Amino acid sequence: EIRLAQRVQALTPSSTLAITAKAKELKSKGYDVIGLGAGEPDFNTPQHIIDAASASMNEGQTKYTPSAGLPALIKEIITKFKSDQGIDYSPNEVVVQNGAKHALYTLFQVILDEGDEVIIPTPYWVSYPEQVKLADGVPVFVEGSEENEFKITPKQLLDATTNRTKAVIINSPSNPTGMLYSEEELLELGKICLEKNILIVSDEIYEKLVYGEHKHVSIAQLSPELKEQTIIINGVSKSHSMTGWRIGYAAGNQSVIEAMTNLSSHSTSNPTTTAQFGAIAAYAGSQQPVDEMREAFEERLNIIYNQLIDIPGFTCVKPQGAFYLYPNVKEAAKLTGYKDVDSFVEALLEEAMVAVVPGSGFGTPENIRLSYATSLDLLEKAIKRMHDFVESKM
Ligand code: PLP
Repeated sequence: EIRLAQRVQALTPSSTLAITAKAKELKSKGYDVIGLGAGEPDFNTPQHIIDAASASMNEGQTKYTPSAGLPALIKEIITKFKSDQGIDYSPNEVVVQNGAKHALYTLFQVILDEGDEVIIPTPYWVSYPEQVKLADGVPVFVEGSEENEFKITPKQLLDATTNRTKAVIINSPSNPTGMLYSEEELLELGKICLEKNILIVSDEIYEKLVYGEHKHVSIAQLSPELKEQTIIINGVSKSHSMTGWRIGYAAGNQSVIEAMTNLSSHSTSNPTTTAQFGAIAAYAGSQQPVDEMREAFEERLNIIYNQLIDIPGFTCVKPQGAFYLYPNVKEAAKLTGYKDVDSFVEALLEEAMVAVVPGSGFGTPENIRLSYATSLDLLEKAIKRMHDFVESKM
């Protein structure tokens, strides 16, 4: 028997993947399961991106690149930051990674020493606590209450701060809640981070998916001091429907970026060359596909949100971005006789044939996460199944 390292023994398997596996198993047995667990857009990568990547290979661009990424891609990323956020980055303030997830992983590796604390608002994206722990850091959870649209307040941030606080994660728009921090909220949180010298990790992967009158604001664009205090994480996975290409990046303080580049030179060498050429095309080419996908998500949201809150025992803050709904279903679980939301979710899968992710994996066990990155037809069918299921058990 091989004894595994302590650090992996403590890892929690991803709850998102667990439900997807179970749904797949039922499907393979012939059951008509509708999966609402997916964390990826259901659209194909735009054709011009695929063509550019393919052309690059035919032209012989199939070798290692610099560890920080292709200079041409870094240039496009810098242009994107300038035009979208009005932030000026120089090339040595940007590092390309194998996805935003990898950028976060490398970041925690280079900023955390044993016992350093990272403040993580709940509900949180499942990988944050695990990545912090893998870097010997300590996740400190702060509740983003439903009454405050799942966001943390400046007072909560201040109260959670200790002399070991190294960083705070801000994920706006949020996975799983879809909520956005406003400019005023970010300024107040930023003020505390500057006073206490807390690094801000701003995960902006859902930046392009924002609905109605809501606007995405990056905390780094609010002042030169905040720019210096913030590491922005972003990528093309969600914006350009490129989840499988694995291109993300980090931007911020030069010494942090240099350390990330250095570490990556020993782990991955560089992000996949072909995927980097695809990402160059994604940013250099037309952004119309990005807008079209955003519009499709917004249309779905507006239709299914009302159907969802019609289900007895479901309440839901209306999301402002991303592609998830995060209803509180505590009452529905109670009405249908289940002891908790986890068992309710299991019954939804086994009896109503709808796969959703239990909120327990995101740190809030009264909620469930539904992804609307699937066709409107299937979404409406899934919601009707859930509605009928709840009514049949009441
Ligand atoms: N951050 C959040 C909040 C996410 O939801 C995801 C993907 O699910 C990522 C980062 C990772 O994105 P990538 O596919 O670029 O690694």
